[in-house]
Amino acid sequence: MQSLMGTNFLHLLGNDDIIERLFKPALKGEKIGAICMTEPNAGSDLHGITTNARKVDGGYRINGQKMWVTAAPMADFFTVFAKAGPEMKLTIFLVEKDFDGLHVGRAIDKMGVWALPTSEVAFNDCFVPDSHRLSKEYGDGGDHLRTVLAEIRIITGAMGLGVARAALDEAVKYAAERKQFGKPINRFQAIQLKLAEMATDLEAATHIVHYAAWLKMTGRPPLQQAAMAKLFATEAAASICDKAARVLASYGFAMEYPVQRYLRDVRFTLIGGGTSEILKLTIAKGLN
Ligand SMILES: Cc1cc2nc3c(=O)[nH]c(=O)nc-3n(C[C@H](O)[C@H](O)[C@H](O)COP(=O)(O)OP(=O)(O)OC[C@H]3O[C@@H](n4cnc5c(N)ncnc54)[C@H](O)[C@@H]3O)c2cc1C
Repeated sequence: MQSLMGTNFLHLLGNDDIIERLFKPALKGEKIGAICMTEPNAGSDLHGITTNARKVDGGYRINGQKMWVTAAPMADFFTVFAKAGPEMKLTIFLVEKDFDGLHVGRAIDKMGVWALPTSEVAFNDCFVPDSHRLSKEYGDGGDHLRTVLAEIRIITGAMGLGVARAALDEAVKYAAERKQFGKPINRFQAIQLKLAEMATDLEAATHIVHYAAWLKMTGRPPLQQAAMAKLFATEAAASICDKAARVLASYGFAMEYPVQRYLRDVRFTLIGGGTSEILKLTIAKGLN
């Protein structure tokens, strides 16, 4: 999945060399892309970024600091949001891993999603040729940001479905095996109700994510539905993982059982691509 991150900009580029060398291999999983939006002082408020791109002969010099860049240490290319042009508008650039002035910093020690490192990335007068500017200099970066965020939100909602499905499967299996008071705990209504709620939430979350993905695939604007899908699916996933941990009780707390991992990993889906609060603001705005 990570190799796809950063290819969201494929349609913005008229550069066949980059498409053949980087984006097409990334779509096959042979190259890795990373997205650099977040900064130490700009997370939810991406219009508040300070990374900037100064026009020079033949390209741009990028300066700034990015934070929380997933897969940065192994990425072949980075899509970078910076302010550029006379009015310093959001503009998108593609930076290749061997460009001078790109520095991948320390990996953040995080509570979950251990399979993918997440790092700081710095741009120190990093030269990027004109051919690597992915959006117009005069202000369509904000529109592309909205489109990309909708895609990321659908993907993150789908990640929530995956971890929730694993947690439900584990809880169902455990409840059939674990005996207390002389019978398997899945014979107790308190456990049955929990499993039923988890399964129903997962079913509803699956439909809302599939609907947003279908809108996207059929070319309809999915902004509102993507925000709703991520909000509903990731909150449902967090609740399902919490209930799974309750079904397993002490074994939900043990590192040798997988539920503790689901509990930790699901937290990411509540944040990446926009927090639940920000999604609600987007949804509310779309109602006007
Ligand atoms: C594991 C991981 C991987 C990530 N990978 C990437 C990546 O690859 N690329 C990338 O660019 N970023 C990445 N991110 C960053 C992620 O997108 C941001 O963390 C996220 O957008 C939230 O920003 P923040 O953490 O700075 O929170 P803040 O924006 O500081 O928000 C803090 C709190 O304030 C709330 N808040 C903020 N503004 C408002 C408001 N207007 N109204 C109400 N509440 C508000 C938020 O909801 C939140 O509860 C990653 C994050 C994590 C944890």
